[in-house]
This record gives sequence, C-alpha cells and structure tokens, in this order.
Amino acid sequence: MITLLVSLLLLITNSQAKADTNENFMKFELVKLPYAVDGLEPVIGKSTIEFHHGKHLQTYVNNLNNLIQGTKFENADLETIVRESDGVLFNNAGQVLNHNLYFTQFSPKGGGQPSGKLAEAINAAWGSFENFQKEFEAAGVSLFGSGWVWLAADKDGKLSITKEANAGNPVTKGLKPLLGFDVWEHAYYLDYQNRRADHLKELWKIVDWKAVEARF
Ligand code: MN
Repeated sequence: MITLLVSLLLLITNSQAKADTNENFMKFELVKLPYAVDGLEPVIGKSTIEFHHGKHLQTYVNNLNNLIQGTKFENADLETIVRESDGVLFNNAGQVLNHNLYFTQFSPKGGGQPSGKLAEAINAAWGSFENFQKEFEAAGVSLFGSGWVWLAADKDGKLSITKEANAGNPVTKGLKPLLGFDVWEHAYYLDYQNRRADHLKELWKIVDWKAVEARF
C-alpha cells in the first residue's frame, strides 16, 4: 500500500516537473496582432492574416522553442539568437523576429508619411519620401525568390534599404530594422497572386508610422 502511494506520488511529482519544463521551453510566444484579423482589408485579406500569422508564424515560433531546448540559446533573447545562430535555428529565429516586426508595424488607420526625426533622416538619404518609397518597392520587386526588404538604421541614425534573402534581418549587419516588407509569396499570394509589385505598393496604406518611428 505504502509502495503504491509512493509510486503515485513520484508519478505526480514527475509529471509536474515535466509540465514545468515544457512551460519553460515555451519561451517565445506568438506575437499578438494590434488589430482584428480582417482589420487590414482590403490591403491584406483576412485569410492571408489567418494563415500568415496563425499558421506560418506559429510554426516558426514552435520550431524556435523546440530548437533552443538544451542549447546555449535557451535563455538568450531573440536578437542574440538571430545574430549568433546559423542553419535551421537561424531560419526559424530570423522568421520570428521578422514577423514580430512585420505584424506590429501595420494599422487599419495607417498610411500617410512619417514625421519628425525619421522623416528628416529619410529626406537626407533619398531626397524625398516618394523617392524612398520608389527605391524600397524596387528593392522588393527585384529580390529573387523569398526574402525581405528592410528600412534600417545604423548607430548614427543613417538610413539604408537592405535586401535580405529568406529569413535575413539587418541585425546581422549591426543595423536596426525599422520597417520590413515580406516578399515571401505566403504574404500576398491569396490576395495578389503573382503581382508582388502591386502588393508592395498597397502596403504603404497600412504602415503605422508611429510604430516605425518608435523603433528609430
Ligand atoms: Mn512571412
């Protein structure tokens, strides 16, 4: 009887420990959308958001949590993992960082132009907001295959546009990412099919410049 009780206690203690361990490893969570799933229509449709955020990004988050278990990255922050990892871990960590920035830079009330210091820095680099938009779109259209186009700042606040393949992020070049357009087909295919240029042009209508300025 006592043996049975002890076994039972051990079983409960063990499963509790396991639950705690798994909880600890669910370190990174799916970023919350600051708008409804249909809030960005018609620029980005509800189905695209549901798949892109709820399926694609959730998979990257799950993979990342599984991959860091028992490694030196277990307690590292996301940017450190992206800067210091490679291979499959880099791909998943990079995509979590990229999409966390992506999904939190839009608003149903977005659009217009940046203001303040960011507007000044854009004018200093490209002459005008319109020129910056043209170059940003051209970078996205000319990126072959899957990847990202970023507006990034260096330590002195000087801006540049970077084209990154696959899961790339400007943090690996020592730059701070401010705005990123996802040119993987999963970001636009349901709404725009092959028309990537049309999609990129439409995205300006939902950019939340206050959120982007806060990153600068
Ligand atoms: Mn994506």
